[in-house]
Amino acid sequence: MHRTAFISHSDCGRHDTGWDHPEHVGRLVAIMRALRTDYELLERLDHVQGRHATVEDLALVHDRGYIESIRSICAAGGGRLDVDTVASEGSWDAATAAAGCVLDAVDMALDGRAPRSFSGIRPPGHHALRDRSMGFCIFGNVGLGARYARTVHNLDRVLIADWDVHHGNGTQALVQDDPGIRFLSMHQWPFYPGTGPADDHGPLGTVLNLPMAAGLEPAEYVEAFERSFDYLASDFRPDLILISAGFDCLAGDAIGGFTLEMEHIDRLTRFVASRADAMCGGRIVSVLEGGYTPKRLAEAVVVHTRALAGLQAAG
Ligand SMILES: [Zn+2]
Repeated sequence: MHRTAFISHSDCGRHDTGWDHPEHVGRLVAIMRALRTDYELLERLDHVQGRHATVEDLALVHDRGYIESIRSICAAGGGRLDVDTVASEGSWDAATAAAGCVLDAVDMALDGRAPRSFSGIRPPGHHALRDRSMGFCIFGNVGLGARYARTVHNLDRVLIADWDVHHGNGTQALVQDDPGIRFLSMHQWPFYPGTGPADDHGPLGTVLNLPMAAGLEPAEYVEAFERSFDYLASDFRPDLILISAGFDCLAGDAIGGFTLEMEHIDRLTRFVASRADAMCGGRIVSVLEGGYTPKRLAEAVVVHTRALAGLQAAG
């Protein structure tokens, strides 16, 4: 069993998108409520309040002009960043906290404080581009974490696995020019944002896109993900694995059309954990992305975190 941290920040609740927006603060409220009902898990986890990412941190993957524009829009009370991404006054503190939690997660994984972690954060990040917000995302939390591991911790090889139902187009854009980062994205196809066809391997051939139809049997998603993960990872042997853990891949999600159940989240998590144990001392930095039916999202986070922590699946 590896020490496992649950990393979050109260400021993540200050990104006020309104209750009619699918990515609302109730998602994190539901997660915290579900965690509190699982005493075994609660006791097993180290609860950590992450830091805020600095402008210097964010500039590892984002243009400074873009970073400052987010800061000034929020300081002015907020506004619409793209067709479906909004910012409120608190969104700067939320978005820098979300990114900062992931940076802390990387630090903790590599200095041994917590080889495993789950960051329960918002706004999500995997659609954010170098100079543009997109798809509920402001800063590219996971792409930033991977580049931070490469540049600040000097890791040679980092692998990102993204099972959010949407293509991680932002993550791909932020990391695809780095030969030391490999990126796997399984996503519904055709679907938002329209990127990530199977023949897009990035300019260096380090990207594996796995577009999948909606409504398949859950085993098809699970087996395709596991096969692709091994294909990408076995000759690479990452020093660190990041998961873009989007739970909009669950059956019944308000947005996604995949069919996964809790047992499949458990299986995918234990699969990645087994590879992490074999390849990189168990180190996994898992980060919340989507998941838009709060009750299902919260249940899945408990299942996922139990599996990360090496606890048995609950009844
Ligand atoms: Zn998503």
